[in-house]
Amino acid sequence: MTPRRLFVTTALPYANGRFHIGHIMEYIQADIWVRFQRMRGHEVHFVCADDAHGAPIMIAAEKADLSPQQFVAGIAAGRKPYLDGFHIGFDNWHSTDGPENHQLAQAVYLDLKKAGLIETRTIEQFFDPQKNMFLPDRFIKGQCPKCGAADQYGDNCEACGAVYAPTELKNPYSALSGAQPVLKQSDHFFFKLSDPRCIEFLQQWTTSGAVQAEVLNKISEWIAPGEDGKPKMGDWDISRDAPYFGIEIPDAPGKYFYVWLDAPIGYLASLKNYFAKTGRDFDAFMADPATEQVHFIGKDIITFHTLFWPAMLHFSGRKVPSRVYVHGFLTVNNGEKMSKSRGTGLDPLKYLSLGMNPQWLRYYLAAKLSARNEDLDFNAEDFMLRVNADLVGKYINIASRAAGFLTKRFAGQLTHAFDAQGMAILQALRKAGETIAEHYDSREYGKATREIMALADQVNAYVDQNKPWELAKDEANNEKLHQVCSVLINAFALLSRYLAPVLPALAREVEALTGLNLDRWDATEAVKAIEPYQHLMQRVTPEQLQALFEPSPDEAATKSDSDPNLPDPNLPGGEAVAGSIGIDDFAKVDLRIARIVECEPVEGSTKLLRLSLDVGEGRLRQVFSGIASAYKPEELRGRLTVMVANLAPRKMKFGVSEGMVLAASHGDEKAHPGIYLLEPWPGAQPGLRIR
Ligand SMILES: [Zn+2]
Repeated sequence: MTPRRLFVTTALPYANGRFHIGHIMEYIQADIWVRFQRMRGHEVHFVCADDAHGAPIMIAAEKADLSPQQFVAGIAAGRKPYLDGFHIGFDNWHSTDGPENHQLAQAVYLDLKKAGLIETRTIEQFFDPQKNMFLPDRFIKGQCPKCGAADQYGDNCEACGAVYAPTELKNPYSALSGAQPVLKQSDHFFFKLSDPRCIEFLQQWTTSGAVQAEVLNKISEWIAPGEDGKPKMGDWDISRDAPYFGIEIPDAPGKYFYVWLDAPIGYLASLKNYFAKTGRDFDAFMADPATEQVHFIGKDIITFHTLFWPAMLHFSGRKVPSRVYVHGFLTVNNGEKMSKSRGTGLDPLKYLSLGMNPQWLRYYLAAKLSARNEDLDFNAEDFMLRVNADLVGKYINIASRAAGFLTKRFAGQLTHAFDAQGMAILQALRKAGETIAEHYDSREYGKATREIMALADQVNAYVDQNKPWELAKDEANNEKLHQVCSVLINAFALLSRYLAPVLPALAREVEALTGLNLDRWDATEAVKAIEPYQHLMQRVTPEQLQALFEPSPDEAATKSDSDPNLPDPNLPGGEAVAGSIGIDDFAKVDLRIARIVECEPVEGSTKLLRLSLDVGEGRLRQVFSGIASAYKPEELRGRLTVMVANLAPRKMKFGVSEGMVLAASHGDEKAHPGIYLLEPWPGAQPGLRIR
């Protein structure tokens, strides 16, 4: 068999916020598929990137007082804990603002222009005279032209559901400045998707098997002839005017590509970036007819990926997607995520911070995923049942029931003289491999896990019939006990191989236990000996699930009538632990080792000390600190401590304070007085960062 050459992507997340559970589901779905294909011996390159451009990011960056590049870098820096945490193994993570994407987007555009599919038109658009910029639809508000509801967006009314053009709004205003927008003309570039060549190509491509049947149903209305014989597909406005955070259009100063033009090109840019880093030939790989291009996406971005994107690629002379795999949305507890009493849904980092096993979630999602574009629900009770009863109860238990006897009674050695029944079970397990493989390949993970659990049921029936714990009571049964336990460990290894795309970390542990290599699907070797068994997976507890869906303390505080600032004796240090933050939030706080060079009392204050701190900058910083009740100035001179070095300077009555030193205290200072300044271990030097 010739190995397949696969280029696999997930949708590029927009770099204006952290990942939510929907992103994680998509990445897990794709990651399982990628791991499976690799186990089959295929060549897979799995990449993603931040979608960095567009007006929303430009505006969010401005609000945060950052450049768009800095803003996007901050978001990107927070991605890793999610990806590593859920065992999502992208080969590369890039940005659509990378140089490869600038170059590729301009090249694609010029090729489309050469093909005669780019046209310039003058359009009229709302312009904010105060901000000096054209306003995206979402940044124009006004009165609904149909029902008169106030403060509606420029594209549709949330009160009556009407859809309209922003120019139809009554009393429009800019959501950015509040100014009344004026209509202004501008030249825009259009990709002529309604050209008969495009329609013909898309009719052919969409029916080539590249999209699911239910997706074809959704999109065919755009390209099938309507009542007037013409398809509904219009031309696509691909340009935006400066100021815009994006890629400049060649030979058109002040004109930028609309973010949705360069975003999917980011797939190619990330692959190109990855190939450059690893010494591979990007152009040759993409020119190879055998290379399959596969995109995993959500149902909200179907038209971009199944109409605009393949047409862009085809008419710029590039490889078109082989498959676009669309999944539905993930709801949490039957959509209860919107309910205030249960907090804000399933927070991926909170899940990890509670010590919950990422592979539980991978298994649960796999058990519920199919190849269809349909929504699925994360249900807490169902999650507990599938993890505890199926994953741990049916599968992990096979190993835990057999391994102890093998180690204690047979020095970890296995026999291959199986009984007939055991032999039959192992054969059945091996035979099922191809069926399970077909399910994985067609993304029917639910069917795959059902098949694997049905096999585990057979193995457990064998356990119940042979009762190794009974056999172990009489030395005369030694041979039988050895056979049964050896069958069980071999069965467990096979099941582990079949589950390896879903449970990659567990597979590595099973490799350590059995000495087998589980990274090939069709390997046939048997287990010869095992290492002493260590517990492979815990059960999920109701307490963990309760904590997962509990509103975070700050959310809870705003909901209850009690004063959130009142100290509570039952809480650690007298106050609740603050709501969880991502590592990206933490990274914003720059903590440094500081030497207290000088320290003196502050005249007119009994609380404050004036500190002169050396943070290795070649100058001293003045910091006022409310620690006079706990320390005398001479106690502190020369000592090291920790300071917040990037706190904005604050003007106080006694002077400017350029930072803050860190000290611990109880939530109820009156009942529990005491302030404790932090001090690093010996060896720390001023200026070192705390991370
Ligand atoms: Zn309305």
